Amino acid sequence: MKKVLITAGPTYEAIDPVRFIGNRSSGKMGYALAKAFLNEGCELVLVSGPVNLELSHTNLKLIRVESALEMENAVFVYKDWYDVGIMAAAVADFRPANVADEKIKKQDDRTEMTIRLVKNPDILAGLGQIKKEHQFLVGFALETENEEQNALKKLQKKSCDAILLNSLRTKGAGFNSNTNEITLYRADGFKRHFPLNNKEAIAREIAAFLLG
Ligand code: C5P
Repeated sequence: MKKVLITAGPTYEAIDPVRFIGNRSSGKMGYALAKAFLNEGCELVLVSGPVNLELSHTNLKLIRVESALEMENAVFVYKDWYDVGIMAAAVADFRPANVADEKIKKQDDRTEMTIRLVKNPDILAGLGQIKKEHQFLVGFALETENEEQNALKKLQKKSCDAILLNSLRTKGAGFNSNTNEITLYRADGFKRHFPLNNKEAIAREIAAFLLG
């Protein structure tokens, strides 16, 4: 039984107890991948940021987190466990340097405010650095220019075995949509295009390919 570790969704980076910095990732691609691998008979750990999606299965351990640091902690528990790792989460690059204990008050004499941000850890690159012989690690790339070149750079920089490039040029593909068009680049130079399709169908094709 192949063991698969997937991250999905956005991360929320707290500013104070009620506010956060986040992004519009729906988590649909990561959840679709999780479902596809479960249907292929895999054992799955899904570490998910805040999303409006449900998934349950006897072979699924779903760990819900909010922030990038929480996601990193949860993922690293499984660093030696997985055979296939797919980092599909849209992790916030930065988080507020300080989280206020109380809700930050609006001050009438204040017309500006600054929030200092610090860099979040790169979870995918962290896993890449400690990757074992039996592990196959996959990242996502979302590029707006020099797509292929930047995806290949990311593949190398983060020590992945493959990178899945979302085609943003295609209408209806990618972030927060129901469909996607993806090109997979493997570290050995192999390339495979998955044409525009709904995320569930594309996830099934990717899962079958990665397990095949
Ligand atoms: O560098 P960039 O954010 O474009 O890389 C995207 C890939 O890296 C995705 O697979 C994403 O899940 C992963 N990532 C991560 N931790 C971060 C930033 C990105 O795992 N802090």
